[in-house]
Amino acid sequence: MALFSEKKLPSLGKAMAIGYYPRGCLQGGVEHPMTGQTWQVMRLSRNRNWGHPDLVKFLERFAPLAAKATGWKRILIGDMAQPRGGPLPFGHKSHQIGLDVDIWLMPMPDRVLSQEERENISASDVVAADGKHVDDKIWSLADVAFIRTAAEQPEVERVLVNAAIKKELCRVEGKNDRSWMSKVRPWYGHADHIHVRLKCPADSPDCRAQPAVPEGDGCDKSLDHWFADWILRLKIPEFGGSSRGLKLKDLPPACAAVLNAPASPASAATEERSEPR
Ligand SMILES: [Zn+2]
Repeated sequence: MALFSEKKLPSLGKAMAIGYYPRGCLQGGVEHPMTGQTWQVMRLSRNRNWGHPDLVKFLERFAPLAAKATGWKRILIGDMAQPRGGPLPFGHKSHQIGLDVDIWLMPMPDRVLSQEERENISASDVVAADGKHVDDKIWSLADVAFIRTAAEQPEVERVLVNAAIKKELCRVEGKNDRSWMSKVRPWYGHADHIHVRLKCPADSPDCRAQPAVPEGDGCDKSLDHWFADWILRLKIPEFGGSSRGLKLKDLPPACAAVLNAPASPASAATEERSEPR
């Protein structure tokens, strides 16, 4: 569905996440700043640095915490949502309601990156080529601290990572308290970034919550399935799928109004910069 991706600005209206993470939209989205003291946003040309205000607030709080916990000093932020959320033409199934964000598993370089660098620099894959282990040359304990910091934030619903990463977390934490790990769940891809998903905000009655995480830390037999040969051979796109084929009628009815609403005046100042680059 190209409709939502054609909207360069958020809709007028009170901020609300509408629908389900892979089937919904975002009213009154806010823009996350491209550059902060402890973060930079990558892939600016995609215009996906929008979210529910809870997500922007989360990132502003999380970036300095994660930078400190890892010793990385600064972090790199990938896709959030389109200005009005909705299905994305490529890259993700979810990220539709302004509560999902990808955060790179690597430190931000110690300088402000150019627009071009933000398009072209790639994150390093921390998973080995066999898909069964982390790559010891790239993976480090800083990655553990990074993921743990995300999982420990109360507004976080899930942290999705590659199964090889989950397996390594289970191994490293061994007999330690692994309760923080219950939110960290395996998913396709996610070998060079983590996917952080926030809970439905209190101000969004039409946001559909994800079922609660299963009991336990997930360091059990349920993990084995991810290492079956046929699963490892599946070529699920980089980020875990796409939402191609989804139609406007598949979304909550309120999303048609979001799509057709005038642009939010608060965003008018950014209009020029948000035009196609
Ligand atoms: Zn993601």
